[in-house]
Amino acid sequence: MPAQETAITGTPNYYVTEHFIYSDFICPCCDMVKLVPGFYRHVSLLEQMRREQDFPIIVTSGYRCKKYNARVGGAPRSWHLLFATDIKPEDGDPDKLKSMYEMAVSLGFGGTGRYDIHLHLDLRPKVFRWRG
Ligand SMILES: [Zn+2]
Repeated sequence: MPAQETAITGTPNYYVTEHFIYSDFICPCCDMVKLVPGFYRHVSLLEQMRREQDFPIIVTSGYRCKKYNARVGGAPRSWHLLFATDIKPEDGDPDKLKSMYEMAVSLGFGGTGRYDIHLHLDLRPKVFRWRG
């Protein structure tokens, strides 16, 4: 089989870690995710957070292609174009979100943005935190 036929396409449900699957992270318009350096570290940190918090965490946005990023009003040089995640507790509980933020900081995510209903986490190498 030619190599290109072994590429992951469609909406894969393969597990990356115990609680996260590739399709949690794909761009909704093209079903793509880039396996960039830092992807697996990022997801393993999310997994650590999920295990320690012990409540369901929803990924509301992962990889975005340029077209989709523009459509959702993302910054032109958004980290989502490489890889980033927006996450929230499944039930939207603000106390859980606060606890996820504190854990994201202690786990060592580079970019950590705290918004009213979600957190943005990305691959930037230096620690940068903001309140959205
Ligand atoms: Zn897309």
